[in-house]
Amino acid sequence: MNAPPYRGRFAPSPTGPLHFGSLLAAIGSFADARAHQGGWLVRIEDLDRNRAVAGADRAILSTLEAFGLDWDETVVYQSQRRALYQAALEQLRESGLSYPCACTRREIAARGLQGPEGPIYPGTCRAGLPPNRSPRSERLRVADMELSVPDAVQGGIVQHLAREVGDLVLRRADGFYAYQLAVVVDDAEQGITQVVRGADLLASTPRQVYLQRCLGLPRPAYAHLPLVLGDDGRKLSKSLAAAPVDPSNPLPALERAWRLLGQTPLAEPPSDVETFWQQAIPSWDPSRVPSGPHRLGSRQTGAADRHAPAPQ
Ligand code: GLU
Repeated sequence: MNAPPYRGRFAPSPTGPLHFGSLLAAIGSFADARAHQGGWLVRIEDLDRNRAVAGADRAILSTLEAFGLDWDETVVYQSQRRALYQAALEQLRESGLSYPCACTRREIAARGLQGPEGPIYPGTCRAGLPPNRSPRSERLRVADMELSVPDAVQGGIVQHLAREVGDLVLRRADGFYAYQLAVVVDDAEQGITQVVRGADLLASTPRQVYLQRCLGLPRPAYAHLPLVLGDDGRKLSKSLAAAPVDPSNPLPALERAWRLLGQTPLAEPPSDVETFWQQAIPSWDPSRVPSGPHRLGSRQTGAADRHAPAPQ
């Protein structure tokens, strides 16, 4: 059977202007898609209305354009796709895989079960709501098993969901569908075959693969790009990565991102964004991407330290 055609995506949350850390993820995912003659889609992850900033979606899109990151098809907005998430939730409910939960964050924290990803849900409402309590959120019942997911850059990740995360939230107490549910539904509905994104989401991947199995959806291939350290040795997201990129002067940031992704500098200094990509795409070599610094409580398998982190 032939493999489905490559379809990648970039899925920013519109919480502010595009910063360097996100640009790096966009560039890696775009380059990998185009080097494979694949499609590249953009999805705005604006489900959480409390975090979405008005106009940030348009600012992100125009920054992507300024950097020559031309997407295919119409940009989709998660806020317009709630019916899809609702249908997935109903499917899980009907299969007995989800249940209503009355617990507050404070109650869960008070149980003191800490995992690498935050407090572990202690299973209080698994067998039914306690007397006189009403449902706040809805959770997925996770199996007592270890899940291993291969990753093209990081080698792989192994997580024991029940022990390290606990039953996960599908619909939050504030009524919003959880990121983990929406991302899985969208990646499948958009036919995404390759997820290339920042390593901050590596630890979410076993949850997403588990949800795919519960919903009978295909699993895309995963590649998690390194989180980059700032000059002060701190994660860029805490310093430089949080700084917005300058769409009026894209070449320096493009070249910097290219180096940080372990790619060989272009033979000819590009005069503009177009000539950058003309040279860059044919030279993209995913095996050169460093696994880089990362922060993870979960175990990684065979982490590919083939290359030292790229010089700053
Ligand atoms: N919306 C997420 C973010 O901006 C990315 C989700 C993903 O790539 O799966 O961090």
